Order: sequence, then structure tokens, then C-alpha cells
Amino acid sequence: MGFLAVCVFAVCCSCSCGLSGENEPVQTFVIPHSHMDVGWVYTVQESLHAYAANVYSSVTEELSKAKDRRFIAVEQEFFRLWWDTVSTDSHKRQVRELVKEGRLEFILGGQVMHDEAVTDLEDEILQMTEGHGFLYETFGVRPQFSWHVDPFGASATTPVLFALAGFNAHLVSRVDYDLKDTMQKKKKLQFVWRGSPSLKGKQEIFTHIMDQFSYCTPAHLPFSNSSGFYWNGVALFPDPPKDGVYPNMSLPVTKKTLRAYAQTMVDNIKQRAAWFRTNHVLWPWGCDKQFYNSSVQFSNMDPLMKYINQNSKEFGVTVQYASLSEYFQAIHHSNLVWELRGSEDFLPYSTEPYQAWTGFYASRNVLKGVARQASSQLHAAETLFTRYRISFPDGPVAKDWALDKLRALRWAVSEVQHHDGITGTESPKVADMYLRHLTQATMKVEELLAALILLPHNLDITSVLNNRYHRRGVHQTLEQHVIVYNPLAWNVTTVINVTVSFLNAAVFDEDGQTVPAQIQRSAQSNVTYDLFVVVELGGLQHRKYLIKFPDKPCTGRSKCGRTYGAEGVSFERRRVRDWTRTGRRLLPVLSECYKLMFDQDTNLLHSITYLEEKSRVRVTQDFWEYHANGDVKAGPISDNYMFSTNGSAARAYQAVEMEIVPGKIVSEVRQYFFRDESDKDYAYSITTRVPECFGTGARCRRLEQTYSLGPLHLNTEVVLRTATALKNNRTLYTDDNGYQMMKRPYRKFTNNTVARNYFPMVRTAYIEDEHSRLALVSDRAHGASSQASGQLEVMLHRRLWNNLPWNRGYNLTLNDTSVVRPTLWMMLGSVSGTSAHYQREAVELQHRPVIMPIDQPQRPWQEKEPRGSSPVRPVVLPPNLHLLSLSIPGWNYSSDHDVHLAHVHAGKDLHSEPDYDRVLLRIMHLFEEGEDPELSKPVTINLKEVLRGIGEVKVLQERSLTGTWDVASLQRWKWKTADKTENKGRGRCGDEAFTVTISPKEIRTFFVHFASKDF
Ligand SMILES: [Zn+2]
Repeated sequence: MGFLAVCVFAVCCSCSCGLSGENEPVQTFVIPHSHMDVGWVYTVQESLHAYAANVYSSVTEELSKAKDRRFIAVEQEFFRLWWDTVSTDSHKRQVRELVKEGRLEFILGGQVMHDEAVTDLEDEILQMTEGHGFLYETFGVRPQFSWHVDPFGASATTPVLFALAGFNAHLVSRVDYDLKDTMQKKKKLQFVWRGSPSLKGKQEIFTHIMDQFSYCTPAHLPFSNSSGFYWNGVALFPDPPKDGVYPNMSLPVTKKTLRAYAQTMVDNIKQRAAWFRTNHVLWPWGCDKQFYNSSVQFSNMDPLMKYINQNSKEFGVTVQYASLSEYFQAIHHSNLVWELRGSEDFLPYSTEPYQAWTGFYASRNVLKGVARQASSQLHAAETLFTRYRISFPDGPVAKDWALDKLRALRWAVSEVQHHDGITGTESPKVADMYLRHLTQATMKVEELLAALILLPHNLDITSVLNNRYHRRGVHQTLEQHVIVYNPLAWNVTTVINVTVSFLNAAVFDEDGQTVPAQIQRSAQSNVTYDLFVVVELGGLQHRKYLIKFPDKPCTGRSKCGRTYGAEGVSFERRRVRDWTRTGRRLLPVLSECYKLMFDQDTNLLHSITYLEEKSRVRVTQDFWEYHANGDVKAGPISDNYMFSTNGSAARAYQAVEMEIVPGKIVSEVRQYFFRDESDKDYAYSITTRVPECFGTGARCRRLEQTYSLGPLHLNTEVVLRTATALKNNRTLYTDDNGYQMMKRPYRKFTNNTVARNYFPMVRTAYIEDEHSRLALVSDRAHGASSQASGQLEVMLHRRLWNNLPWNRGYNLTLNDTSVVRPTLWMMLGSVSGTSAHYQREAVELQHRPVIMPIDQPQRPWQEKEPRGSSPVRPVVLPPNLHLLSLSIPGWNYSSDHDVHLAHVHAGKDLHSEPDYDRVLLRIMHLFEEGEDPELSKPVTINLKEVLRGIGEVKVLQERSLTGTWDVASLQRWKWKTADKTENKGRGRCGDEAFTVTISPKEIRTFFVHFASKDF
């Protein structure tokens, strides 16, 4: 139905707006919009109160007054808040009508306009799914166009995801200034983008880059000192003015000003028309925080447009209100052959030579970390709830109680993906808002996780929750239970770290067998101990462990089971100025994979040998600081967004201490970096954990490092520099959104070369030469660069202040005084050896086992669970496939589009009955074509078999990325390119109903129904 409607519309359109010839007037699509940041300077509540609610109230009323008016609604979080808490029944009726007529058009449809540089694809998909689910459920509509006008640079992952979501065209704006200039001159702002080198034409999408005016109307009126076509002026905080008169309202359109307005608009349209191949101009009418007083806006624009159309012959221009789809339909109808663009992205982004937007890759490290942890927690809870729901449909964890908790965290994780959210480019109070929403929702989900795992399935929920589950606290009895859950659909053997208060501990599994463990004084505190426990978990499996704390020191094995005590050896402080002779006394730390050598003359890492190929590489790691300028009069500054530096980084320390804790489970190397030789407290530290192997061989590849930084000195940007002997010619590889790797050759610029060679690293960065590759995978986003051959530096933390009035006015100077503790896993090996592993390691770092310590257990172990009860069956995918999503979204729409539309149009109350039986499943192939001889192959799996551990699959239906389309009915627009090769489209299910073949880099989405279990 939806597709038919689009076809009909396109045909109608062709009658009136066919391809215009040279002498035809320029056809202008005036697209009214309001860019509404979900955060940035003001909190969501402040924005909703000051202007955002008024945007939707007044636009709804104004659109209903005249048929030709249009508006595009972009950020769903504001729309939903308005819909649920502000709009009247009359508004709702009007909106439904306007949406049906296509006059109010939902574009993009995500909760926010997500950032593209520092977001992970899992979160991007989540936030789009959240918005799309609401729109489809409420209106039966599915957004088909993007409007990514403000993210700071464009990733090549975005066009792939939007294609997978069923979009027909993609629109971006912020790309490097000189590149945009060139594209503009050569009329190359529009092209067909094949964002993935593996998926190629299968998921290509027509892409429009906005011209130099970007998404705002021209800011200058030559006949007036007011700016732009903003008759409603500038939004006023905290309260809207009572009389409706806002500051800086433009001159009204009157007989006196009409001609001048028309001429200004026409001149601008003609200037832009010259940059495009067709005779159509997209003229965005709006900017940040506009249309809160739409009546003033439209009542001025109506007569202006009428006047231009009446004089279109003279002006050579026609104008019309348009939705974005009307514009793209016209372009599509032009039937031109478009240039193809491959998988290169538009990062980094500069607005002028000294304005390199590469600082935000590392701004607000804490927020970036909390956002990713919350996302992992959500994934764990979604998978666990899905499994619980299918196994115990009538279990004591109430489904609506559970869904409420999941929804709160979905909302919070979606919200922070905003391009002034996870980017760290917001004011401090807005950063606090995101953190508050994330932590509150995370705590609720922790309650849910505990309930799902701890509740015997026939008990009253509240009493159990009140009594049995306590978060990790300061009090500990002499016994502690720990539940460990593996949220991945792979079997994992790994080491978890439980912080305990006693030096002696023995660990037992569910069968009472002792478990290998290691205990030692914690690097972070003098009063706690790190207990490392080796855990083996099947895919989506949880296990319980019992830790007993003997009251006397362990003397024999019986007391402490298989727990080994480890003690540190300290090395004397070494001063940088004494580094005249180094490399004489090397100290090895060995694992099954590596031999690390530490230099006792410097206390730094000296070299790593990867034993598989007996290849030794010189590797040193330490901290360096860029000193930022804070005085705008003295030159370019660094701030939340920008990174600019006058020179190269300086060594951040004058002395280093080291402690090595050799162990049987892990060996830990603690390095402390002192700013001054005689400082008592260290400024930075690296804790490296070198794991021993327990049979699988895989785990020893990762060298886990946790760093401690902060509070930093003011105007300091700190990097971890890993210097190696690799001959990489300063070429770096970093990932776009954890989806694909991008080659980043070093480029020389006349100005600001250091900053313009910084790139976002969401999950992975590596350098390589023909023999070896050094890869880092990360638990949060950072900036990365290779400033000298063999170097890989990661910007971990920034603290800045400057006197630029704009920055100070909005509180965007980034005086971030926090202490941060990011984690990276380092891997070294041959190029082919690391190719087979780094993607999976990056996923494993993101989705580490969830550890739930339960203090004060109320009953002895044996009474909790009958002895010998087998753990739930594992769910295991092949090593190159990642279980991206397994959740119960709780939507209440019919999977049959026609049936759903009939419901929507019948005005059924749609929010009463979430569907608890429809499971959303996403599987992603982690490898690129040709990346690995085995793992890059397409994989065929039988989903009935794979999911047998959860239940019996009855129905499987393939859907679009956000779930709203049945892929069988999804037909995206085809755009002509010079490439004649036939695009086969996505692979279909195999002959057998539940057999699916997943090709390199594919993401496949399904609705799954399981057979009901009656107990
Ligand atoms: Zn914005």
C-alpha cells in the first residue's frame, strides 16, 4: 500500500514538474523545518518549555489553515514528548490528517539526529528503531529520507544503515569546507553512495550534500539589519515571551519590503541553482529553534511566495512549499545518470583551515564511556528478558514491569546519540542531564536483570527483590554470590574481576567445584582486592559462582581452592633525564601469545614478541600532552568541538614507577607517570593485564590496558602514544561506527596539520606494515592519529578553557575536571593473524560478561537451586556472525502492513496492548569480503537450530533494519548510475524456511515467533 501510494504520487508529480529545460524557471522547494537539538546548550525539558512544544502546536494549527503549507518533523524525542504530554485531542486529529496527506512529513524518524563520528552502529540502529517503531505504530508511516544536516562530518556507515532501513535518499551537510567548495563548483553535490565495499550496489543510496548555505536560510538581508527569513525571531529562554514578541524578529513582509525580500530570495535561489545538475533547488526554510511561532512565519512567507510566482517570468524562478520527499521525487524523476561514490567517508570535518572538528572525538570521555556501558547493559537485559519471556511466559517477572524498565533505557541510550550528546559538545548541565537519564535507567535495568536471574520462577517478585538482591556495597559477609551473564551468542572463556574486601578467597561453581582464580591488592585502592576468576560461559548463558572468604590466611589448597595469591614487585622510580643508557636490563612478562619486555632503565614497555611467528617488534607506550591556546587573540583555540595546536605534543611526565604482579591467571604491570620528578602522586597510569591461556588460545591475544587520567591541568589534551618500529608511513586505519575500517593516509596541510590528521576511533584503530599489525580496540570513542611513522596515538582526555565570547556565552569551553579510566585491548600479530580476530575482540570488549555480585545472600547456597540443575542451553552463532539484537520491542502493530493501516485509519487505540510475543532478531556478518580466507565467506545457518536453546521457532519473517518493512514488499527507488551491473538485492531465505545465508557485512533483521510454552 505504502509503495503504491508513492508510485501514484510520483506519476502525478511528473505531470506538473517534469524535467525543466534550460529556459524554464528554476523550481524551488521551500522546505519549512526547525532544527531542534535534543540537548546541546539547554536540557530537553528547558527546550520543550521554551520553544519545542510550541513548534508542533503552532505548526499543526498553521498547516491546517492552508493546503499548500508543509513542514518536516525530524527529531522524534521532541515530537513524542509533545504528542504524549502537550498535544490536545484536536492537535492529534489534525496531525493524523496532515500526515496522511503528506503535508507534515516525518523525516529520518530517529529519536535524535545521531552523531556519525563517535557513535557505534548498534546505538545508531537502536535510536532509529526506537523512533521508527513509534511512528509506524502511531501513524503507519515509515520515513524514507534522511536529513543529517548537523552531524560534524559524514560516515560511510550511515548510508548503508539508511538503505537497510528502506530510505530512498540520504541528505548530509557538514563536509570539509574545501571539498564542498569543489563539489559545488563541479556540480557534484549529488551522487549515489556505496557505503560498504562488501555490500556495494546492494545497499547504495542517492545522496545529496547541502550547498554552502547548509540547513539555514541565508542569514543576511541586504535591505535590513535583521537577519534571515526568521519572522518569528529568536527563541527565548527560559520562558517564551507572554506577548509573543521575540527578540530579533525580521521586518514583516509589507508592500514596502515585499520587492526587496523577493529579490533577496530569488538571487539566493539562482546562486544555488548553478551548483546542481537539475533545475530544482532545495531551499531549507528554517534553522535552529525555529517555527515556535509558525503563524508569523507563514503569514509572511505566503505573500512573498505568491509575489515571486506571480512574477516568475521576470524572476526566472518558481517557489512552492514542499516536503523533502517532494524534492527528492523531482530529482528522481529527472532520470539523470548519477556518479558513483565508493566507501570513503567525509571525516574529519573542517570549516576552515584552523577549524578542524576533531577535538570532539575525545571530548567528555566519561559521558562517552557511560553511554557505551549503558548500551551494553541494555543489550544484556534485552537478550535475557527475551529468553525469560519465551521460557516463562507466566513467570513472576511481570512483563509490563520489565518492558517499562527496558523502554526507559532504550530512550536514554537513544537520546545521548544526539550530535551534541555523545560528542561531548554540550554545556555542562546538558551533559549532566544525559548522565542522569542514563544512570537512572541503568539502575532500573539492573533491578530487572537481577529479577530475571534470581527469581525462582514461582515466587512473589517484590519480596524477593526487597530481600535478596543488593547492589555491590561496602558490607560483605564471609560469603558472596556472583552471577555472571554472557550477552553474546558465542561461547566465551574469559577472566572477570570482582572487587572484594578480603585477601583470602575461594571460588566455587554451581556444582561445588573449585574454580581457578587469583587474588591481589587492587591497583586502585589500598583496602580492596582484585579477585580474577576464570569463567567459561556458553552463548547467552549465565552461571553462578560462590566466593568464600576464609577468616584465616590460606595455608593449604583446601582453604582457598584454586585461588592463587599474587604479590607485586616494585621498581625504583626512573627519571627521564637519566635515560642516557636504556635497554640494558630488560624484564620479560610472558603469556602463551606474547613476550613483553619492560625496560628497567625507563620503566617503559620496550618490545613485544608475538610468539606465533616469533616476531619481535619495538613498542613503547607513554603519555604526551598537547598544550592548547585559550586566548582567541593569541591564535586558534581548542574547545568542545575543535582541536588546534601550535606545535607537537610534549612529554607529559618526568619520571616513571613500575610494579609488576606476576600471576597464574593474569600478570599485571602497573606503570605510574609523574609530572615532576619529585611528585608524590602520579598524573597518569597504565595498568596492563597479560592473560594466561586456559585452553582456548584466543584470549591471550588481548593485552588489556586501563588508564587513569585526571583531573588534568587546564588547557591540556592528553594522548596515549604507542610508538612502534612498524613502517606504516603514518597511515592509520580507524573504524566508522564499529562497522567498517577506513584507511587514513597522513595528509600535509599548510595549516593545522596535526589536528586535521586526527580521526574518530569508535571501536578500533590499527597501524601495520607488510609483516605486522598493532591494533587497539576500545570500550568508548576516542580520537586517533599517526603523527610519525610507527606511531599510533589515542587522545584520551581533554580539559580546556578559552575566552571566545560565543564559547563562554554557551558554556562550551570544556573545563572537564573528571578522572577518566578508559580501557583498550592491544593486539599485535601478523596482518592475517589479527584480521581474523580484531572485529570479534572489539565486540567482546563492548559486551563483556555482566557481573552481578549479590551481597548478604539470605539462604545458603544449596537451598537456592536444586543441586545439579543444568544451566540454560547456550545459543551459539558461528565466529563471524554477531547477534546484534535479540529483544522484545513491545510494539503493538500488525506485521501485515495492510492490516496495520486499516487499524490506524480506524482510529483504534494503539497504545494499549504491546506485543510480547514478537521477537526482534538481528544478525551481522563481521567481516569484509576478502578480509580472511575462511571467515569472510558467506555463512548459512538454520535459525531454528541456532535458536533452539531459547525455544521452538514457529515463524520467521525478514524485516527492514528498523523492523517496519517486510523486506518482501520493500522496493527502494532505483537511481541510474554508469555501473550497469545488476544489483541482485539482499539474499533471500534459502529453500528451507528457516535457513538463511548471511554475506560479508550484511545485517539481517527478522521477526521471530516462538511456539508458546504452557506451564
Ligand atoms: Zn544540531
